Amino acid sequence: MTEENLKVTELEKKLKKKEDELERLRKENESIKRSNLELKEEIFQFKGLVYSSTSLITFLKGPDYIIEFANKPIKEVWGKGYDVEGKSLFDVLPELHSQGIKEYLDQAFYKGEPFHARSLPIEHDKNGEMVRYFFDFSYMPQYNYNREIIGVGVIAQDITNRKRAETELKESEHRYREMIHSSNSLIAILRGPEMIIEIANDAIKEVWGKGANVEGKSLFEVLPEIVDQGMPEIFRTVYETGETVVAQESPIMHLKNGEMVLGYFDFMYQALKDSSGEIEGVSVIANEVTNQALLNRQIKKSEREFRELVNFMPHKISLTDTEGVPVYYNQSWLDFTGKSFDELLSESYLDMVHPDEREFVENEVERCLSTEENLDIEVQIRNKDGNYIWHLAKATPIRDEEGNITSWISSSTEIQKLKEDEKRQEDFLKLVSHELKTPITSIKGYIQLLLASLPDDNRDTEKRLPIKPYLNRVETQVERLIRLLSEMLDLSKIEQNELELKIEKFNLNSHVREILEDLKYSNRNVQLELEEDFSCEVHADKDRIGQVIINFVTNALKYSPDSNRVQLKIFEPEKGHVAVSVKDFGIGINEKEQNQIFKRFYRISGNKDDTYEGFGIGLYLSNEIIERHNGKIFVKSELGKGSEFTFTIPQNHQK
Ligand code: ADP
Repeated sequence: MTEENLKVTELEKKLKKKEDELERLRKENESIKRSNLELKEEIFQFKGLVYSSTSLITFLKGPDYIIEFANKPIKEVWGKGYDVEGKSLFDVLPELHSQGIKEYLDQAFYKGEPFHARSLPIEHDKNGEMVRYFFDFSYMPQYNYNREIIGVGVIAQDITNRKRAETELKESEHRYREMIHSSNSLIAILRGPEMIIEIANDAIKEVWGKGANVEGKSLFEVLPEIVDQGMPEIFRTVYETGETVVAQESPIMHLKNGEMVLGYFDFMYQALKDSSGEIEGVSVIANEVTNQALLNRQIKKSEREFRELVNFMPHKISLTDTEGVPVYYNQSWLDFTGKSFDELLSESYLDMVHPDEREFVENEVERCLSTEENLDIEVQIRNKDGNYIWHLAKATPIRDEEGNITSWISSSTEIQKLKEDEKRQEDFLKLVSHELKTPITSIKGYIQLLLASLPDDNRDTEKRLPIKPYLNRVETQVERLIRLLSEMLDLSKIEQNELELKIEKFNLNSHVREILEDLKYSNRNVQLELEEDFSCEVHADKDRIGQVIINFVTNALKYSPDSNRVQLKIFEPEKGHVAVSVKDFGIGINEKEQNQIFKRFYRISGNKDDTYEGFGIGLYLSNEIIERHNGKIFVKSELGKGSEFTFTIPQNHQK
């Protein structure tokens, strides 16, 4: 081989080596390029992660903690705009100076110790107002490739909202527990099928009587006595079905001061559900109502007794509301009408009343409802056979503590037999008085004839036989008899609606004067005074008006044993009316009886019958007569001082 050839071979070898070297470098370069690309991708991905993270992230460089990078969420919490890179953290957020943040950063920066904090409160200045935030923080030292610390990385979570919700939850739970414990109601929360007592307030513990330490135990273990009272079944139903069970005045035996006692409770057992709707226990809310329950039982008992009593009575008893609408009828009503309770309530009571009396009954009821006076009427009511039976119906209001009427109670008593007896008596009296009237009137005629035929001056005979005084006495007695008979006849006329007025025109004043003259003639030693404030002609029944005046005056004289003075007055009470009053100074009438005396046969019981003779008819007749004249009678009286009876009538009678 030549030297040249050797050189070429040598050069070729070198070239090959260089070429290999070049190939290796090219490959290396390519791998560097690739890893560079991969690194870029990684950085890109990493940055993307950091930017898109909801965590708050920042890198702070050097001892002045210059913000090298801060993501959007942390910038928003800082609230100092988005252009903060390159500035010191403490220049951007001077409020951090006083909050110990630098110490945490220094710990990471100078000592290389990462620092983690949970629920760290930090206040940020938001336009001059310090707003408190809570963060979970990590401060981590950041290294360069020489493993030297060049800054601090911060990752934080804003947990302000969660913290606030937690606080609110705690507060509401606290309030809820406070409420349970301070409540007067009996409250317990029981968990699981075993009814483990989780919460029991003081009120329920006191009723249980098993001391304060019951939480954590099963209800049935604490209160074995309720097991036999059906309670486990109730709890099980609520626990298994989720149904709410409500019980009122439920009787339960429980321990009180070491003794088993019966108490009454209002209960509500309700299923407790977790957030997914699963039943996890039962809540108990109860109130002890023993006193009220005992009272209610007492009320129910007395109501039952009262009903029994009312049903047992032969009288027909009913209750009406304040408007007079019936709300209750007793058994006697049902038996009499042959109707059911509901039928009676659904009908108007007026339907049971005799058609002729319906208007009268309705008016009377209306009057009593509006004046709040007692009702007292006689009325015919239809029985189950369709016959109308006479009843005495009375009603009186029932009032509450304030005196307001709450209802009316009425009783109707059968008086059919009484009415029939009365009718028979009336018929008999009518017959008797009619039959007696003729003979007695003729007796009176003969007496007057005898008196007239006796000479006035007959002293000799008078001494031996005092015929004239005797005849005078007989005449007075006969007159009384005639008055009685005509009153009796009037009475039966009224009963049979036959009392008719004979209306004529006359001068009332002269009529009164004439009557007084007659009365003076037969009552010699009395003092009858007349005051005429008004004088007029009237259209009225002259005899009947006279009858009323005579009745007033004879009563005034009769009921004044210690006085013989009677004052009459004629006056005009209102335009178109005239009034006559008769005033005495006798025994008077008490207030209660002033309304009663106008009833038929009513006589005041204190007056001894033998002291004041009479039948209790006169005022009844007078009242009827005046009413038929469309007038009114009034009485003013004071016991022991005297009475004044007044009637007023229209000057012109109108039918
Ligand atoms: P009598 O025939 O009983 O007098 P009346 O109907 O005239 O009947 O009167 C009814 C009752 O009223 C009398 O029984 C009496 O108790 C009472 N009375 C009537 N007028 C007077 C009076 N002027 N003073 C006191 N009581 C009277």
